[in-house]
Amino acid sequence: MFKIYLDYAATAPVRPKIKAKILPYLADKFGNPSSIHSFGREARKAIDKARENVARFLNCQPLEIIFTSGGTEADNLAVRGIVENAKIKMQKSKFIPHLVTSTIEHHAVLHTCKILEKERKAQVSYLTVDKNGLINPEDVKKTIKPNTVLVTIMYANNETGTIQPIREIGKIIEKENRLRELRKNKNKIYFHTDAVQAAGYLNCDTKFLHADLLSISGHKLAAPKGIGALFVKKGVPLEPILTGGEHEYQKRAGTENVAGIVALGQAVLLANNSQEKIRIKKLRDWLEKQIIAKIPDVQLNGHSHQRLPNISNLNFQFVEGESILLNLDLSGIAASSGSACTSGSLEPSHVIMAMHHNPLRTHGSIRFSLGWKTTKAEIDYLIKILPTVIIKLRKISPLGKKSNTNSYQLNI
Ligand SMILES: *Cc1c(COP(=O)(O)O)cnc(C)c1O
Repeated sequence: MFKIYLDYAATAPVRPKIKAKILPYLADKFGNPSSIHSFGREARKAIDKARENVARFLNCQPLEIIFTSGGTEADNLAVRGIVENAKIKMQKSKFIPHLVTSTIEHHAVLHTCKILEKERKAQVSYLTVDKNGLINPEDVKKTIKPNTVLVTIMYANNETGTIQPIREIGKIIEKENRLRELRKNKNKIYFHTDAVQAAGYLNCDTKFLHADLLSISGHKLAAPKGIGALFVKKGVPLEPILTGGEHEYQKRAGTENVAGIVALGQAVLLANNSQEKIRIKKLRDWLEKQIIAKIPDVQLNGHSHQRLPNISNLNFQFVEGESILLNLDLSGIAASSGSACTSGSLEPSHVIMAMHHNPLRTHGSIRFSLGWKTTKAEIDYLIKILPTVIIKLRKISPLGKKSNTNSYQLNI
């Protein structure tokens, strides 16, 4: 059967060029990078090279890159690392660290914040979004308190692709820090952004973004799963969450995932390619236009243009998202109802809920996400299959409008 993968925001197939680069490190070049013999030095050299590539991608110094086991660990290290450090500093005062985040973050950030709150290790403010899924930078400013130590806002959302005004937020935080300096307050506010989805398509220059910490993940960039990185600006005080050896500038103990690191070092060279971006955006726009034209009662979730070029999150009224996914899967098409972590659990998406406050809107929402291998023929096949699936489901739908099935005829 013709199989079509439209779930790149969950994970991407490994690019052949990346695969070729890492195979030697799964075979002959197996040394432990901490060993001083030739096997070890060979592995160390590969890590150094990859670190330089990632540093160039983020416009920072190599020693500002900490390799982790993925995006989740990078997010945890940023949030927990800053909170732990601030707690040590605030020990003598009655304050606990305050964090600012948003209701639409990936669970790696959101659940971490909730846990820190529950453990009374931090106080957290959750910024809301408008119906386009956007955070208002002014809200960040209004929410900052004297004990705020970290603002963590994602660069682009994994469910809708909506791009947040990260640079504006970064500048606001810098200004707040200057005010604190004038008031002789030595505690700084650090700014973290989860750029896991953004890295494939947006400028991740950490200086341009005014970011202190930034997370990326390999498998969202067509490298294998289990590798990621956290940018930690020089001087940002961070407690490690994994302790042991002196690896990764004493910020992340454990023998390095050499093959994974090599893969990430190659992935960043291939990421954010302008030609590929144009090609993928064209396909995504075609998909969206055709589906909205052929199927009535479809709405776009997320911002219409301040959005990643590869994601289309669409709401199909009067149908269950899960039923659409199962039917598409029977035709060989893989899509998602949002985040991979929530699909299967039938929990309404926290991202769509934050935008529309309506469970019905979340139930019929499907995310199509495209990537380096997606072709026009694949999109055309989806456009051919989907209208029939939606008509069929609406006819049997318990969600209303059952009696008037004729209104669901194709607009062809
Ligand atoms: C996938 C994803 C993560 C988690 O990355 P892993 O490498 O899978 O742990 C974090 N944030 C966002 C926005 C993601 O899309």
